[in-house]
Amino acid sequence: MTAMQPTDKFTIETITDVRPWTESLFSFRTTRDRGYRFVPGQFARIGVKDAASGEMVWRAYSIASASHDEHLEFFSVVVPGGAFTSRLSKLKEGDPIFVERKSYGFLTTDRFEAGRDLWMLATGTGLAPFLSILHEFPTWEQYDNLILVQSVRTQAELAYEDLIQGFDQSEYYAEFAHKLRYARIVTREPVEGALGDRVTKLLANGVLEENLGLKLDHDRSRIMLCGNPEMVEDSRKLLLGRGFRLSRRGEPGHLAVENYW
Ligand code: NAP
Repeated sequence: MTAMQPTDKFTIETITDVRPWTESLFSFRTTRDRGYRFVPGQFARIGVKDAASGEMVWRAYSIASASHDEHLEFFSVVVPGGAFTSRLSKLKEGDPIFVERKSYGFLTTDRFEAGRDLWMLATGTGLAPFLSILHEFPTWEQYDNLILVQSVRTQAELAYEDLIQGFDQSEYYAEFAHKLRYARIVTREPVEGALGDRVTKLLANGVLEENLGLKLDHDRSRIMLCGNPEMVEDSRKLLLGRGFRLSRRGEPGHLAVENYW
């Protein structure tokens, strides 16, 4: 069998690191083609070869790494019975992975105009694009407050918690770190310091704003939602009901959304 060659459509990268968080959650890093460009918040299309059929299988994955990072990082869940993610989770350092040359998606801060507070609401692996956005200096410079809400089922799923809480220790980000407000939501077990209800409920009853010490406001707030499609849909409706508008092409609003699957 001849080895796969890069094409106009994709490059062949190498897995450089795999980090399991729980039995079903893991992150992995890959080499990055020098020509690969993306805007933080966008997703890549990644391909693996199906062992049985030899066919390439492609899936969309939000990029978790910074646009200036020489690697690409992704954050994934193993979907029970899912051929792609179970295959992906078995990949190890040195294995090849295919990355489409084009990047996709509109969960990017350039969808907004003005705004002082950037709200990023994530469930599960929907955290990934916000990690990329949080690594951009212009984001920290542009906004007075960056608000990150991470909702997971169990404490063990609070992936990247140390990184998020460590911005104030970072040589590069420490001067901005006071701008970050981070709320953890753990819905299926009590965790000290974390909220316990779904983000939609916490939005509706005002507890999220109270907990973060900041109000959602039409002039100040720009809001991004990513994760569970039902969460995205329900939160979107809730916020539209409060007078926030969806950003559209050429028509900046308050809201940008992405379903993670
Ligand atoms: P999840 O069910 O999305 O839950 C993550 C967090 O979101 C939990 O705190 C959960 O609260 C909350 N949540 C769920 N639905 C919500 C809603 N309608 N409104 C507000 N909050 C909501 O869990 P996950 O671990 O990220 O993923 C669960 C399963 O989804 C995975 O096991 C996998 O099968 C599938 N998944 C598939 C893909 C894919 O690419 N196909 C990607 C990611 C996940 P509760 O505890 O109250 O539910």
